[in-house]
Amino acid sequence: MPLSDIMARVAKACEDAGRAADEVTVIAVSKVQPDERVRAVLDEGHRVFGENKVQEAAGKWPRFREEYDGIDLHLIGPLQTNKARQAMGLAQAIHSVDRPKLANTLARIAQETGTCPDLFIQVNTGEEPQKAGVMPLDVDGFVAECRGLDLPVRGLMCIPPVEETPSLHFALLAKMADRNGLPGLSMGMSGDFEQAIAFGATHVRIGSAIFGERVKA
Ligand SMILES: *Cc1c(COP(=O)(O)O)cnc(C)c1O
Repeated sequence: MPLSDIMARVAKACEDAGRAADEVTVIAVSKVQPDERVRAVLDEGHRVFGENKVQEAAGKWPRFREEYDGIDLHLIGPLQTNKARQAMGLAQAIHSVDRPKLANTLARIAQETGTCPDLFIQVNTGEEPQKAGVMPLDVDGFVAECRGLDLPVRGLMCIPPVEETPSLHFALLAKMADRNGLPGLSMGMSGDFEQAIAFGATHVRIGSAIFGERVKA
């Protein structure tokens, strides 16, 4: 689907929810997409992109940054502590802060370099054993811990279980963000971004609906 159609659907979902369209940032998730598809979206003027692997982002975005100004890169996938420094050098936001060890590493590097990307804490709202994210009961404590480390926590992020109604998870995440005084909500993907916007999403992460099905480059 062309980017303009996605932006129109986002604008409509905002209008239906009584929200301003500029309250929602569309992160175009470009993982595993061929360069020519990414370039087409850049040429349409879009600048906010998401990748789930540091390695792949490092191989792609420094090149695009030589050609296009103002790229805003968001890392949305699991982050190993030994890749934290590289991730912090590449991305303007990290959506997958999910454990104390990672928070401590990010804080140490942030103090050393004097900068830190915007951070989102990933919450395992479905309490799925195989999925990353802080358990719902641990969220308040972990937010406090990150704040104690002076980390710039902007919001919460979730990936609802595939077989469940996403809106229940969006509502839960919104409630947890609200009680922690966090303005950001990274939720909603190709199949459910309109619902996520209805529940207050500030960042929707849209891959296949923008770029087409993911293919191996
Ligand atoms: C791949 C990915 C997306 C995008 O998924 P689509 O269904 O293609 O929109 C969103 N969030 C995360 C964390 C992802 O890894």
